Amino acid sequence: MTTTPARLTVLAGPTAVGKGTVSADVRARFPEVWLSVSATTRSPRPGETDGVHYHFVSSDEFDAMVAAGDLLEWAVVHGRNRYGTPRKPVEERLAAGEPALLEIDLQGARQVRATMPDARFVFLAPPSFAELERRLVGRGTEDAEERERRLATARVELAAESEFDHVVVNDDVHRATDELISIMGITSR
Ligand code: 5GP
Repeated sequence: MTTTPARLTVLAGPTAVGKGTVSADVRARFPEVWLSVSATTRSPRPGETDGVHYHFVSSDEFDAMVAAGDLLEWAVVHGRNRYGTPRKPVEERLAAGEPALLEIDLQGARQVRATMPDARFVFLAPPSFAELERRLVGRGTEDAEERERRLATARVELAAESEFDHVVVNDDVHRATDELISIMGITSR
Protein backbone atom coordinates (compact mmCIF):
# COMPACT_ATOMS: atom_id res chain seq x y z
CA MET A 1 0.00 0.00 0.00
CA THR A 2 1.30 3.45 -0.80
CA THR A 3 0.44 6.38 1.40
CA THR A 4 0.43 9.88 0.00
CA PRO A 5 2.71 11.98 2.23
CA ALA A 6 0.63 14.26 4.43
CA ARG A 7 1.55 17.87 4.06
CA LEU A 8 0.09 19.00 7.34
CA THR A 9 -0.32 16.85 10.43
CA VAL A 10 -2.03 18.16 13.55
CA LEU A 11 -1.05 16.41 16.76
CA ALA A 12 -3.32 17.11 19.72
CA GLY A 13 -3.80 15.47 23.08
CA PRO A 14 -4.06 16.27 26.77
CA THR A 15 -1.45 17.88 28.95
CA ALA A 16 1.64 15.79 29.77
CA VAL A 17 0.68 13.03 27.34
CA GLY A 18 4.06 13.43 25.64
CA LYS A 19 3.25 15.44 22.50
CA GLY A 20 6.55 17.32 22.83
CA THR A 21 8.58 14.15 23.33
CA VAL A 22 6.95 12.35 20.42
CA SER A 23 7.35 15.30 18.05
CA ALA A 24 11.00 15.70 19.09
CA ASP A 25 11.48 12.00 18.32
CA VAL A 26 9.89 12.46 14.87
CA ARG A 27 12.24 15.41 14.22
CA ALA A 28 15.28 13.47 15.45
CA ARG A 29 14.58 10.73 12.93
CA PHE A 30 13.19 12.89 10.13
CA PRO A 31 14.75 16.37 10.33
CA GLU A 32 12.87 17.34 7.18
CA VAL A 33 9.67 17.42 9.21
CA TRP A 34 9.12 21.01 10.22
CA LEU A 35 7.54 21.70 13.61
CA SER A 36 5.60 24.91 14.02
CA VAL A 37 6.74 27.22 16.84
CA SER A 38 3.68 28.65 18.58
CA ALA A 39 3.25 32.08 20.09
CA THR A 40 2.19 32.12 23.73
CA THR A 41 1.49 34.60 26.50
CA ARG A 42 2.74 32.15 29.13
CA SER A 43 6.12 32.75 30.77
CA PRO A 44 9.09 30.62 29.75
CA ARG A 45 9.89 27.62 31.95
CA PRO A 46 13.51 27.06 32.94
CA GLY A 47 15.39 25.76 29.91
CA GLU A 48 12.93 27.13 27.36
CA THR A 49 14.29 29.45 24.69
CA ASP A 50 12.36 32.19 22.92
CA GLY A 51 11.91 31.36 19.24
CA VAL A 52 12.79 27.70 19.79
CA HIS A 53 10.19 26.28 22.17
CA TYR A 54 7.74 29.14 21.77
CA HIS A 55 7.63 32.76 20.73
CA PHE A 56 7.02 34.26 24.16
CA VAL A 57 4.94 37.39 23.67
CA SER A 58 3.07 39.89 25.83
CA SER A 59 -0.69 40.03 25.93
CA ASP A 60 -0.62 43.19 23.78
CA GLU A 61 1.62 41.53 21.22
CA PHE A 62 -0.73 38.54 21.08
CA ASP A 63 -3.71 40.89 20.59
CA ALA A 64 -1.89 42.52 17.69
CA MET A 65 -1.19 39.14 16.05
CA VAL A 66 -4.87 38.18 16.36
CA ALA A 67 -6.04 41.55 14.99
CA ALA A 68 -3.67 41.30 12.02
CA GLY A 69 -4.89 37.79 11.17
CA ASP A 70 -1.37 36.45 11.71
CA LEU A 71 -2.54 33.31 13.53
CA LEU A 72 -3.87 30.21 11.81
CA GLU A 73 -5.62 29.30 15.05
CA TRP A 74 -5.42 30.35 18.66
CA ALA A 75 -6.99 29.43 21.98
CA VAL A 76 -6.97 30.11 25.69
CA VAL A 77 -5.54 26.88 27.04
CA HIS A 78 -6.19 25.61 30.59
CA GLY A 79 -8.27 28.74 31.19
CA ARG A 80 -5.16 30.85 31.46
CA ASN A 81 -2.71 31.69 28.75
CA ARG A 82 -3.20 32.15 25.03
CA TYR A 83 -1.40 30.01 22.48
CA GLY A 84 -1.52 30.32 18.70
CA THR A 85 0.07 29.07 15.48
CA PRO A 86 1.74 31.74 13.32
CA ARG A 87 0.11 31.41 9.92
CA LYS A 88 2.86 32.50 7.54
CA PRO A 89 5.52 29.85 8.27
CA VAL A 90 2.92 27.08 7.94
CA GLU A 91 1.67 28.45 4.62
CA GLU A 92 5.23 28.74 3.34
CA ARG A 93 5.98 25.12 4.21
CA LEU A 94 2.80 23.89 2.59
CA ALA A 95 3.43 25.97 -0.53
CA ALA A 96 6.83 24.26 -0.80
CA GLY A 97 5.10 20.85 -0.45
CA GLU A 98 7.08 20.02 2.68
CA PRO A 99 5.74 18.12 5.69
CA ALA A 100 4.67 20.23 8.65
CA LEU A 101 3.59 19.24 12.12
CA LEU A 102 1.47 21.30 14.52
CA GLU A 103 1.39 20.36 18.19
CA ILE A 104 -1.66 22.14 19.56
CA ASP A 105 -4.64 21.70 21.87
CA LEU A 106 -8.08 20.38 21.03
CA GLN A 107 -9.66 23.81 20.47
CA GLY A 108 -6.89 24.69 18.02
CA ALA A 109 -7.22 21.35 16.21
CA ARG A 110 -10.94 22.03 15.71
CA GLN A 111 -10.18 25.44 14.21
CA VAL A 112 -7.60 23.98 11.82
CA ARG A 113 -10.06 21.28 10.79
CA ALA A 114 -12.55 23.99 9.84
CA THR A 115 -10.07 25.74 7.54
CA MET A 116 -7.79 22.88 6.44
CA PRO A 117 -9.88 19.72 6.35
CA ASP A 118 -7.23 17.88 4.32
CA ALA A 119 -4.75 17.90 7.18
CA ARG A 120 -4.29 14.68 9.14
CA PHE A 121 -5.63 14.91 12.67
CA VAL A 122 -3.95 12.69 15.23
CA PHE A 123 -4.89 12.43 18.89
CA LEU A 124 -2.14 11.30 21.25
CA ALA A 125 -3.78 9.49 24.15
CA PRO A 126 -2.32 8.27 27.46
CA PRO A 127 -2.60 4.58 28.36
CA SER A 128 -4.90 5.68 31.22
CA PHE A 129 -5.95 8.77 33.12
CA ALA A 130 -3.96 7.60 36.16
CA GLU A 131 -0.84 7.40 34.01
CA LEU A 132 -1.44 10.92 32.72
CA GLU A 133 -1.70 12.19 36.30
CA ARG A 134 1.51 10.35 37.19
CA ARG A 135 3.37 11.93 34.24
CA LEU A 136 2.13 15.41 35.10
CA VAL A 137 3.26 15.09 38.73
CA GLY A 138 6.56 13.52 37.63
CA ARG A 139 7.35 16.35 35.25
CA GLY A 140 7.14 18.77 38.17
CA THR A 141 6.69 21.89 36.05
CA GLU A 142 3.32 22.96 37.52
CA ASP A 143 2.15 23.63 41.06
CA ALA A 144 -0.79 21.65 42.52
CA GLU A 145 -3.40 24.22 41.50
CA GLU A 146 -2.19 24.35 37.89
CA ARG A 147 -2.01 20.54 37.79
CA GLU A 148 -5.66 20.31 38.86
CA ARG A 149 -6.62 22.83 36.19
CA ARG A 150 -4.76 20.84 33.52
CA LEU A 151 -6.24 17.52 34.63
CA ALA A 152 -9.75 19.00 34.47
CA THR A 153 -9.08 20.08 30.87
CA ALA A 154 -7.58 16.66 30.12
CA ARG A 155 -10.79 14.87 31.20
CA VAL A 156 -12.78 16.93 28.71
CA GLU A 157 -10.18 16.48 25.95
CA LEU A 158 -10.01 12.70 26.36
CA ALA A 159 -13.72 12.51 25.61
CA ALA A 160 -13.10 14.15 22.23
CA GLU A 161 -10.66 11.60 20.79
CA SER A 162 -13.36 10.18 18.50
CA GLU A 163 -13.27 13.47 16.53
CA PHE A 164 -9.81 12.57 15.26
CA ASP A 165 -8.80 10.55 12.18
CA HIS A 166 -6.27 8.59 14.22
CA VAL A 167 -5.70 7.87 17.92
CA VAL A 168 -2.16 6.93 18.94
CA VAL A 169 -1.66 5.62 22.47
CA ASN A 170 1.60 6.87 23.96
CA ASP A 171 2.47 3.73 25.90
CA ASP A 172 6.04 3.84 24.60
CA VAL A 173 7.56 6.91 22.94
CA HIS A 174 9.37 5.08 20.12
CA ARG A 175 6.40 2.89 19.32
CA ALA A 176 4.05 5.91 19.32
CA THR A 177 6.50 7.80 17.09
CA ASP A 178 6.63 4.88 14.64
CA GLU A 179 2.85 4.94 14.44
CA LEU A 180 2.76 8.71 13.92
CA ILE A 181 5.43 8.53 11.21
CA SER A 182 3.43 5.88 9.43
CA ILE A 183 0.25 8.02 9.66
CA MET A 184 2.19 11.01 8.28
CA GLY A 185 3.25 8.83 5.37
CA ILE A 186 6.92 9.65 5.85
CA THR A 187 9.44 7.13 4.62
CA SER A 188 13.23 7.01 4.86
CA ARG A 189 15.03 8.51 1.93
P1 5GP B 1 2.47 24.13 27.70
O1 5GP B 1 2.12 25.34 28.52
O2 5GP B 1 2.55 22.89 28.56
O3 5GP B 1 3.70 24.30 26.85
O4 5GP B 1 1.29 23.89 26.67
C1 5GP B 1 -0.01 23.84 27.12
C2 5GP B 1 -0.94 23.40 26.02
O5 5GP B 1 -0.97 24.37 24.98
C3 5GP B 1 -0.57 22.08 25.35
O6 5GP B 1 -1.73 21.25 25.33
C4 5GP B 1 -0.20 22.48 23.94
O7 5GP B 1 -0.56 21.49 23.00
C5 5GP B 1 -1.05 23.71 23.74
N1 5GP B 1 -0.52 24.55 22.68
C6 5GP B 1 0.78 24.83 22.41
N2 5GP B 1 0.89 25.62 21.34
C7 5GP B 1 -0.36 25.83 20.89
C8 5GP B 1 -0.90 26.58 19.79
O8 5GP B 1 -0.22 27.19 18.99
N3 5GP B 1 -2.26 26.57 19.68
C9 5GP B 1 -3.09 25.90 20.52
N4 5GP B 1 -4.40 25.95 20.29
N5 5GP B 1 -2.60 25.20 21.56
C10 5GP B 1 -1.27 25.16 21.74
